[in-house]
Amino acid sequence: MASKKLAAFLQENLEDLKSRGLYNVIDPLESPNGPVIKIGGRELINLSSNNYLGLATDERLKKAAIEAVKEFGVGAGAVRTINGTLEIHVNLEKKIAEFKHTEAAIAFQSGFNCNMAAISAVMDKNDAILSDELNHASIIDGCRLSKAKIIRFNHSDMDDLRAKAKEAKESGQFNKIMVITDGVFSMDGDIAKLPEIVEIAEEFDLITYVDDAHGSGVLGNGAGTVKHFGLSDKIDFQIGTLSKAIGVIGGYVAGKQDLIDWLKVRSRPFLFSTALTPADVAACTKAIEILIDSTELQEKLWNNGDYLKKGLKELGFDIGHSETPITPCIIGDEVLAQQFSKRLNEEGVYAKAIVFPTVPRGTGRVRNMPTAAHTREMLDQAISIYEKVGKELGII
Ligand SMILES: *Cc1c(COP(=O)(O)O)cnc(C)c1O
Repeated sequence: MASKKLAAFLQENLEDLKSRGLYNVIDPLESPNGPVIKIGGRELINLSSNNYLGLATDERLKKAAIEAVKEFGVGAGAVRTINGTLEIHVNLEKKIAEFKHTEAAIAFQSGFNCNMAAISAVMDKNDAILSDELNHASIIDGCRLSKAKIIRFNHSDMDDLRAKAKEAKESGQFNKIMVITDGVFSMDGDIAKLPEIVEIAEEFDLITYVDDAHGSGVLGNGAGTVKHFGLSDKIDFQIGTLSKAIGVIGGYVAGKQDLIDWLKVRSRPFLFSTALTPADVAACTKAIEILIDSTELQEKLWNNGDYLKKGLKELGFDIGHSETPITPCIIGDEVLAQQFSKRLNEEGVYAKAIVFPTVPRGTGRVRNMPTAAHTREMLDQAISIYEKVGKELGII
């Protein structure tokens, strides 16, 4: 018999979300997730993907994936530690290490999985983790899974981090202490203050962990936020995803050989969840080769980001303090943010509203993710639609 308790719980909470404008409706795409997408038979300028470099639809990656399917099939057949490790997995990990300027790397099935895997492989209930309050949900869950004490510090507030690191260290309560941060914060586009974090880490003997999902392929000539600051040998864990700028699926941890060796025997998703498919591995490897060879795509991405920001700012929108191509357009009220996004959509721009709990209450926004694949024409058209809808709703 179906549970009445569950039915009541679901109905009540779904209705609550809908009435407050917080219920997210998913629109399936009838096209690839490129710079222009098709939804409901209509073409829309796409400003909502994480496909920063346009690699998700790149012909070179598609070809590599198809060839890998022909040679190795569609599935890896097992977890990595039984016999799901194909030679192409090993090759991918070598390429990632080269790309990140680290001794070694380990690939996982997703970036989310990396945080489930890596934190709890080294941290336990005798430890503490200093975590930026705006860290990604997967970091928060990974920290919880480890059972370490979680100490949140105010977003990118280095005085607060220092004070909490000092207190944790001097309490003598903890065996190991880790500081963990996003490299680039995806809702605002700001960059973690890694030079100061490293300084504090050295002072209080902290393990350093940077999840650079939005920085890899974007900053530091593609190698990411850590490289951007020249700190490749000072950060213990560099996490990245293969599903944003790289355009495919998967995640990785890059670091010292001993760390990677340990993760290969102790991280649970590596031991208990089937390996990335041959097509994914081959496409990711090709993407990383492209990024090692040339910075052309990053340059296009940054030019497009700067262009969009300038256009929206000149119109009078609040675009926050992004330091990357991510361009938020902060509206405040959740319902108005949803309405703004809906009107943009009707006029031909797909830019998703992002509201609580993804961002703090009262900071509802439409977030724009320009990519290397957008043309100037597309961006100009998007900016003029923003102007029209912004005036209509009294936002500018
Ligand atoms: C997107 C994101 C992830 C998840 O990566 P997936 O590969 O999509 O699972 C993890 N951490 C951060 C900081 C992210 O932005």
